[in-house]
Amino acid sequence: MARHIALVPAAGIGARLGTAIPKQYLPVAGRSLLWHAVAGLLAHPTVERVAVVLHPQDARFEQQPWGEMRARIAALTCGGAARAESVRNGLVALRGEVTDQDWVLVHDAARPCLTAAMLQCLFETLDSDAVGGLLAVPVADTLKRGDRDGRIVRTEPREGLWRAQTPQMFRYGLLMRALESADLAAVTDEASAVEALGLSPRLVQGSERNLKVTYPEDLALAELILASL
Ligand code: C5P
Repeated sequence: MARHIALVPAAGIGARLGTAIPKQYLPVAGRSLLWHAVAGLLAHPTVERVAVVLHPQDARFEQQPWGEMRARIAALTCGGAARAESVRNGLVALRGEVTDQDWVLVHDAARPCLTAAMLQCLFETLDSDAVGGLLAVPVADTLKRGDRDGRIVRTEPREGLWRAQTPQMFRYGLLMRALESADLAAVTDEASAVEALGLSPRLVQGSERNLKVTYPEDLALAELILASL
């Protein structure tokens, strides 16, 4: 039976958010974003372990109130210069304790509102899939292409467009192969590296609640969502 191991890249410095604390450690509802992301993954019993990829100089991870969860978490201090590099380094560190057939769920530390129900959808759809896939939501808004002056050039068709979320779930061997042959600086998610191999990952309908914290105002929204779960 294939195992399910989660990998959380959490080695970023949160440059886009412009805060002194790296994004994954910003507090929401009394805990860090990273804590919530890991707790969301471990809420599903099928997730055996969570490997967290940290910045080599990380000093905050062990201070988090992990409690009993800590026994199912591996801290890997092998973060790289870009997200995909952190993921690739994490996969290399796991080599030896996983098989090529095991599933890896890569999940952003910046997505604190993941639920066991969302993971259940992923498992039900992908456990028998040859390629793997990811949570995603269909684009709901009308899409406009703008010019440099902020004026509409045209309306773009949104049919068939999805917004990619995480977790992204692929077999260890396939994901390793995809990231080994990818231009890591250009890869923004695991699916695109798998696509570059000529494969078509499956889109699994996720939820708008699986928000990614990118801007400071997203923190308040994440707190509201967490309070409603
Ligand atoms: O900044 P962004 O939202 O794209 O980061 C997505 C995830 O990738 C975050 O969890 C962040 O900590 C992680 N990351 C990383 N190593 C980097 C850059 C980002 O693990 N060099």
